[in-house]
Amino acid sequence: MKSGPLLRAEQVVKRFGGVKALDGATVEVKPGFFTLLAGPNGSGKTTLINVITGVIPPDGGRIYYGGRDITKVPPHERRRLGIFRTFQTPRIAHRLTVLDNVVVGHLQQERPTLGGWQRGERELAERALQLLKLVGLDHMWDRPAGELSGGQMKLLELARAVMSGAEVLLLDEPAAGLNPSLALDLFKRLRDLAKSGVALLVVEHRLDLAIDYADYAYFMHEGKVVLEGPPQQVFTNPLVAQIYLGE
Ligand code: ADP
Repeated sequence: MKSGPLLRAEQVVKRFGGVKALDGATVEVKPGFFTLLAGPNGSGKTTLINVITGVIPPDGGRIYYGGRDITKVPPHERRRLGIFRTFQTPRIAHRLTVLDNVVVGHLQQERPTLGGWQRGERELAERALQLLKLVGLDHMWDRPAGELSGGQMKLLELARAVMSGAEVLLLDEPAAGLNPSLALDLFKRLRDLAKSGVALLVVEHRLDLAIDYADYAYFMHEGKVVLEGPPQQVFTNPLVAQIYLGE
C-alpha cells in the first residue's frame, strides 16, 4: 500500500440478499482531513461505515489501517486501534461536568491504577481542556453536561472520543436535526478537529452546508464511488444533479 492514508477501504462489496449495497467502493481517510461521504439515500454510505467499523463483514474487498489489513479484525479491536464511530444520540453523562466527561475518555482507554490516575490527573485535565477548546466548549468546562445543546453534546462526544485514543472518527449525519446555522457551526468545529490531526469521515446529505468545510468528498451511487475530489468540484458536477433528479 502507498503511504499517506491512515484508513483505506478498498473495492468493498456487500450484498444483502439480492441487493448489492456496496459494489466495489474505495475510500481513503487521512489524518488532518475532513472527508465527506455523500450520495442519495440507499447509495451505500451507512453500509460502508459499518464495514469500516467491522460490524458488517464484507463479501469482497479489504480494509487497511495504518497499512495493516484489518478486514478480519473484530469491531472492539478496531476501536482499540483508534477507529471510532459516533452515534446520533450522544452517549454522555449528564450530571458529570463537561470536563469530566472528556477526562473519562482516558479511563476508557487504559484503566490506570489509582496512584497513576492521581499523578496524571492534572495533565489529563489540561489535555481535556485543550480538546474542549478545539470544539468550542472550554467556556462550559465546569457546567453539568446535561446543560449542553444537542449540537454541543455531539462535539463533547467527539472530544471524549479523541481523549480515548480515536484517530479516525466516523460520523453518520452529525448535523441531523440541527438548524442550518448550528449545522454550519458544527462543521466549522469538525474542520478544526480534523486540523488537529484527527481523520474524519462524515456522512452528510446537506452538501451545501458542508461544502466549505470539508477537504475532500466522495459521492456514492448504487454502491460505488462515482465522483471524488475537492467538494466544490464534486458537487458542481452535473452527474450529481442527474443522480438526485433521477431518484
Ligand atoms: P445509505 O446510507 O447511503 O442511505 P445504506 O448503506 O443504508 O445506504 O443502504 C444501501 C442499500 O443496502 C439500500 O438498498 C438498503 O436498502 C440496503 N440495505 C442496507 N442494510 C440492509 C440490511 N441490513 N438488510 C437488507 N438490505 C440492506
